[in-house]
Amino acid sequence: MLKYRNGLKDIPVYNTREQDWDIKVNANECNMNLPPVVEERLMGRLSCLAYNRYPTEEYDALCDQIARNHRIRKENILLGNGSSEIIEKLFYCFGGNKLRKIVYPAPSFSMYPIYAQAAQATGIPFQLNDDYSMDVEAFTETVNGQKAGLAVICNPNNPTGNGFSVSDIEYIADHIHPNCALLIDEAYMEFFGHTAAALLHDHPNLIIARTFSKAYALASARVGYMLADERIVSMIEKAFMPYHMNSLSLAAADIVYQMRHEYVPRIQMIVAERKRMSTMLDKLPGVIVYPSETNFLLIRYSKAALLTEYLASKKIGVRCFGKDSGLRDCIRISIGLREENDIWYDAVKAFVEERA
Ligand SMILES: *Cc1c(COP(=O)(O)O)cnc(C)c1O
Repeated sequence: MLKYRNGLKDIPVYNTREQDWDIKVNANECNMNLPPVVEERLMGRLSCLAYNRYPTEEYDALCDQIARNHRIRKENILLGNGSSEIIEKLFYCFGGNKLRKIVYPAPSFSMYPIYAQAAQATGIPFQLNDDYSMDVEAFTETVNGQKAGLAVICNPNNPTGNGFSVSDIEYIADHIHPNCALLIDEAYMEFFGHTAAALLHDHPNLIIARTFSKAYALASARVGYMLADERIVSMIEKAFMPYHMNSLSLAAADIVYQMRHEYVPRIQMIVAERKRMSTMLDKLPGVIVYPSETNFLLIRYSKAALLTEYLASKKIGVRCFGKDSGLRDCIRISIGLREENDIWYDAVKAFVEERA
């Protein structure tokens, strides 16, 4: 018998296997590749990287750029292989044993409980209301009552789609114990338009995580970052290996960030499509559509599993949550291109109208 680390065998697998989808709307990716002008600049950059060197220059260049945009210092920034790596390291750094409590909303990002378990911490799910809104006072009381070391909010929330106001986040930041770190996972912020970043100045326990994977359509490169007080950055940094980012991904993210204005019309288009699809889905019998501030929609339908199977038979991939608590009979559909949205919508419509 091999002597694996305690608890490893109980950690669930996050299934990343994919079928051969014609329409892939199951992972909240962007269904458009790089804008051509961005691709052209990136190809030029990739031809002159110092492939023989560790990636310090590219790392600093991206940190500088992000810092300038947020009017903070590069010491306030930590880059990761996707914001996933950052979140995983934060859980690790604030975990370590059962007495370390990490509070996160439920339903929310399915990786939070897994990271808590992997960090050997005690994960404490805080139940959202039936409409997925949050009782911020009760959340704060839970965090303080548990003497938590880390509290997490996903804003806007995945997979429910709703956003929490900056004043709600501020209430939490103001009322949780200052020795509890507060992570705001802003993976979908660009579709929402509201950020808690302005609160960083007055709240040295606040951490904001962002990603290039969603609005910036760079999921392949695995780049994310966090903004926080430099004392937090220098502690969390210790959990990473030296030179943990690679130059190719850093160069791609650097160019995408420089050219982020190119993404504004695309983001607007996705938001407009989300609104169009939401209105259309709302008209279908038996389908509940939840409000969304993201690039996806969450729907509830009594035959969700059968609908998902039907869509799969049409080579349309969506994410079904089956019996997950708070997400029973829910399906998450990412917003694709207009033509793709019309195709999956027609299939959903045919199924619910029993023409399928
Ligand atoms: C997609 C996502 C992330 C991070 O994705 P990366 O590709 O690892 O940057 C983080 N949090 C939530 C809630 C997400 O949906």
